[in-house]
Amino acid sequence: MRQSGGGRSRKTKALLLEELEALARRVRELESASGQRAGAESDGVPDDSGLQTILSSLDHGVTLFDANLELITWNEQWLKLAQFPRELARPKTPLIDMIEYNARRGVLGDDDPGEHARAQFAAYRTMATETDSAGKRFERRYPDGAVTEIRADRTPGGGLVITDTDITELKQRELEIEALNRGLEHRVEARTRELSEKTALLEATFDSISEGFALFGADDRLVFCNQIYRERGAPGGITVRPGLRFEDLIRANIERRRFDYPGETAEEKFEWRMSRHRNPSGNIELRQSGGKWLLSSESKTSGGGTAIVLTDITELKQADEARRLTLARLALHLENTPMAATGWDANMICTSWNRAAEEIFGYTAEEAVGRASVELIVPEAIRDEVNALLTEVMAGKGAFYRRHTNQNVTKDGRVINCEWFNTPLVDEDGTIVGVAALATDITDKLEAEQELRLAKESADAASRAKSEFLSNMSHELRTPMNAILGFSQLLESDSDHPLDEVQSASNRHILKAGEHLLVLINEVLDLVRVESGGLSLSIEDVEPAAVIESCVTLARTLADKRGIELTDRTAGRDLPNISGDFTRCKQALLNLLSNAVKYNRPGGRIVVDAEPTDNGMLRLSVADTGPGIAEQDLGEIFEPFTRLKPSSHGDIEGSGIGLTITKRLVEMMGGRIGLQSALGQGSLFWIELPLAKSDGAAPKVTAAPTAAAAVDETPAAAPAARTMLYVEDNPASVLLMERIVERVGHLELLCAHTAELGLEIAEARQPDLILMDINLPGMSGIEAMARLRANPDTREIPVIGLSANAMPNDIKHGLAAGFRRYLTKPIRIAEILEAIDAVTRGEADSS
Ligand code: ADP
Repeated sequence: MRQSGGGRSRKTKALLLEELEALARRVRELESASGQRAGAESDGVPDDSGLQTILSSLDHGVTLFDANLELITWNEQWLKLAQFPRELARPKTPLIDMIEYNARRGVLGDDDPGEHARAQFAAYRTMATETDSAGKRFERRYPDGAVTEIRADRTPGGGLVITDTDITELKQRELEIEALNRGLEHRVEARTRELSEKTALLEATFDSISEGFALFGADDRLVFCNQIYRERGAPGGITVRPGLRFEDLIRANIERRRFDYPGETAEEKFEWRMSRHRNPSGNIELRQSGGKWLLSSESKTSGGGTAIVLTDITELKQADEARRLTLARLALHLENTPMAATGWDANMICTSWNRAAEEIFGYTAEEAVGRASVELIVPEAIRDEVNALLTEVMAGKGAFYRRHTNQNVTKDGRVINCEWFNTPLVDEDGTIVGVAALATDITDKLEAEQELRLAKESADAASRAKSEFLSNMSHELRTPMNAILGFSQLLESDSDHPLDEVQSASNRHILKAGEHLLVLINEVLDLVRVESGGLSLSIEDVEPAAVIESCVTLARTLADKRGIELTDRTAGRDLPNISGDFTRCKQALLNLLSNAVKYNRPGGRIVVDAEPTDNGMLRLSVADTGPGIAEQDLGEIFEPFTRLKPSSHGDIEGSGIGLTITKRLVEMMGGRIGLQSALGQGSLFWIELPLAKSDGAAPKVTAAPTAAAAVDETPAAAPAARTMLYVEDNPASVLLMERIVERVGHLELLCAHTAELGLEIAEARQPDLILMDINLPGMSGIEAMARLRANPDTREIPVIGLSANAMPNDIKHGLAAGFRRYLTKPIRIAEILEAIDAVTRGEADSS
């Protein structure tokens, strides 16, 4: 390796030149000295120690040639630098030999060493001969890799001074710098490539996002933007490319009315937009002319530029608008609802107050909002209670939605009753932050309810009074009828004092008229009860056969009397059960049957039939061969007291109420009534009653309650020496009973005109039977019955109730009180005798 000091390598060329100049001067001095000492040569190295000293002090290799281009002298540095063999470096060595040596060892070039040597020598010779030669410089690379800069200069005597300067390191540095430069270039290229790739990626990325993005530089000119920004942010006709000034973009937008910027004039609009651009604070919502909405959010970059993001918020705005509209409508509803709609925060401070609240509580919204609920509208007396309730609502305890009624106080101090509906309001975490409370003033409603209650109470009282009145009426009418019918029955059947023909005829009139009057009384009372809603039904599953059979049996007696043939087509058939009140079903059907007999021609026919209908009913029909009913009269016959063409019916008795009651009864049981009729041919009346829902599940009424024994038959004689106590205050009734008992013969009658007396006699005489009137002065028959039961001495004595109180309820109560039977006035002699007989023989109880 060559030695080279770092200091030397840093020497500048200027310094080298200076040194060379000094060298040249010295050469000139040496040349003149050499002329003086021609021939005085030593054995190789020129004998000039002074010059040698100078030369060896140089950093450069130096060779000096004379005008013949033969070596004069050289220094050690040259030998080293040029790696020249010391033995070849002799004074007078021709330059050409040295060049050829160099050519041979390849220092001058790789190819053709002879040619290189010739050219090199020619160049030196020219340099040495031409006085104006400027000197040559070139570089030489030696086999060991060292590089020198060679400089040849003409000496004044026509020789040459050739200096070799080691520039290996310089060259190395140059190479390194070159390599460095090349590396740098490569890196720059790579970086540039990378950057442009990144830019493309960035652009692609920005183009793929749904927001418009633009970056304006500190000079407010566009640096970069994506495609969406171009489309959204800029109008047609302006090219959006880097360098575009922001204000030009805005002016173009204003010109083309692209956005509804606030402001009247274009300048105002421009100023508005630019001021927001210069000092971006928050987002700007921009309405586009087409109804679209953009959100522009601008922010300053660290370099003083502006980044703009444009987002399409049309859908958001539309949803906002829809929400706003809904809220506005809701607010309108709330404002106009007749309910007080109030809002309260977590401390129950009022936050909202609608018009109804103003009306109900008297405070305006301004007065109410901001005040605590308890102070505002809660009466002092119940503040603690309300506070406790509100605390519970706020704590989310109990039902989320609370409904309660409490008293409130209005601005003018009135205490009112309000019904409140409280709903806790919660935030996103579910924490209760307030209450939405709706209220109605129910003071009037409560008063009305109170009035209604009172009215109902008085109506109930009136209804009770009416029932009582009906009961009384029934009693009052039946009591005299008891005497009329009873005595005329006695007269009729008194074999000891038989009536003569005329008397008997008159008596029969009394009896008939009495019977008719009794029917009338019963029907009118029935109708009144049905109409007044005083009739209660006991609906159960009923076997239609039981109803039909019992009615047909009764009607057959009547029909037979008039020679009318009665056919029951249902006999032996299996009919589905109906749902109804057994007694009332019977009443309805019997009414139709009795009409069919009444309004039939002698020797006519009646057909009873039953068929289930499509609408879940059983239709019971009664067809007759009577005169029929004219079309125009059909609608009327169900009206009370309607009797058609009395002449056509002759003297047929009737009240015109039967069908009215029948219709009401059937309808009360969920059924219908109707008829088909043809004048002169006959009528077919039908009733439809609903079929029973559960066949067999409910208790069925399968047969009529034990019917009284046949009216005409006189009961078998009772055993002798029986005692009967009759408790009765009405003298006529007592007298009648005495007459009846006389007929029986073997019955002793004891009479008591009050219940109290009756109890005494019962205990003292232990009668076999007691006949007890119910409506007695002082203690009632019911009460007396209870006393008899309570007393062990009288407990076992059978008691028959006998009363003009013939309402079903009365009968029910009577039986419940413990009477063996309950007979109603006016009495039927046969009926009472049968009852007496049955009871004394200990037969089953019955009414
Ligand atoms: P009443 O038989 O006591 O008069 P109803 O209410 O039972 O009262 O009948 C009302 C009227 O309808 C009767 O007066 C009679 O004119 C007419 N009517 C009822 N049933 C028949 C029938 N089967 N045939 C012809 N007319 C009838």
